[in-house]
Amino acid sequence: MDFEGFFKTELEHLKDNGNYRVFADLERHRGDFPKATRYDASGQISEVTVWCSNDYLGMGQHPDTLNAMKEALDRCGAGAGGTRNISGTNHYHVLLENELAELHGKQAALLLTSGYVANWAALSTLASKIPGCEVFSDTDNHASMIEGIRHSKVPKHLWKHNDVEDLDRKLSDADPSVPKLVAFESVYSMDGDICPLDEILDVCEKHNAMSYLDEVHAVGLYGPRGGGISEQEGLADRVTVIQGTLGKAFGVMGGYVAASENLVDFVRSFASGFIFSTALPPALAAGATASIKHLKSSDMERMRQRRNVRLLREKLDAIGLPHMDNDSHIVPVMVGDAKKCKFISDLLLENYGVYVQPINYPTVPKGTERLRITPSPMHTDADLDHLVNALSELWSQCALSRAVA
Ligand SMILES: *Cc1c(COP(=O)(O)O)cnc(C)c1O
Repeated sequence: MDFEGFFKTELEHLKDNGNYRVFADLERHRGDFPKATRYDASGQISEVTVWCSNDYLGMGQHPDTLNAMKEALDRCGAGAGGTRNISGTNHYHVLLENELAELHGKQAALLLTSGYVANWAALSTLASKIPGCEVFSDTDNHASMIEGIRHSKVPKHLWKHNDVEDLDRKLSDADPSVPKLVAFESVYSMDGDICPLDEILDVCEKHNAMSYLDEVHAVGLYGPRGGGISEQEGLADRVTVIQGTLGKAFGVMGGYVAASENLVDFVRSFASGFIFSTALPPALAAGATASIKHLKSSDMERMRQRRNVRLLREKLDAIGLPHMDNDSHIVPVMVGDAKKCKFISDLLLENYGVYVQPINYPTVPKGTERLRITPSPMHTDADLDHLVNALSELWSQCALSRAVA
């Protein structure tokens, strides 16, 4: 076998289909979100404004987060020094887990390396260890949930995205004696739509099914204390498992599940992806705790973000640029053509110092290629005007159609 030749051919296919990923090489500026220095392929540098970060509130640059990380680094050093079971449990992990349990009004929480690992480990463990369990998964679920469910090897039923009736039908078709787990998200990242949580929970309860809710794009952002859509709707106590990340609105890194004491202890005791992996560095745990605490009491970032989201939508409407309507903080500007989407993104970066990554197939369906824009509280009105003017010029250059005002 010509291994090198094989890799090369496969990569050529990706490039031919326009699916080859090229990363923007960035150096973020401490305390100056959303600004960054960009290194291009020839080593040239330029200053850019980031418009597609999942550090939704700029908490990765917040003084509370940074000071907590520095202090923990000075107290505890770099790494955790082991798996949680073998010397790696640092007091900062314990404090963070208490903070997370409290945030979601749950008895306990368990910290994992990332949101991806949390979904993968928790779902594969729960589904495979609960005798006879079957999983009911929303068709738009994130790859980490899909992989976790796949790894459990239990029967999986897909229900139509956010379609409560379809979920009810699929649950009704299953054997009433079978233990059921319903997996879904609150805010879906690409369309920015929000699940009908109350109705989904009604259906879960009707069929005595466990509910597993990925709140990755909602924690820190929704609810009076940043507890997510489940907190905003006052429904957290009815959700069996709330899963989240510390890497998006909380601005650091790590993932978790929050649930009953027994369920969390069960995942802690049986999940391979938790047990056999080095614990997160104490400084990360300290930074995440500070960030969560800050967003529990401060609403300013959320309010300012919503203002900027609303302003961006208004400015896009004013010049007729199509964007997908939703109730979240995610503004998908619809291009509808893979090449033009990439072209606009490239020119935004090269000529305007604006960085928005193009989102093409297979992340989204063909014909719905888009620029996924995430306004933050720190983008200024001048930043907004610059972005919208740049988009307007490129829209004309690409002869893309506009809505008639
Ligand atoms: C990003 C993401 C994850 C993974 O979280 P990380 O902490 O980035 O690993 C899980 N679920 C959804 C819906 C996501 O978008």
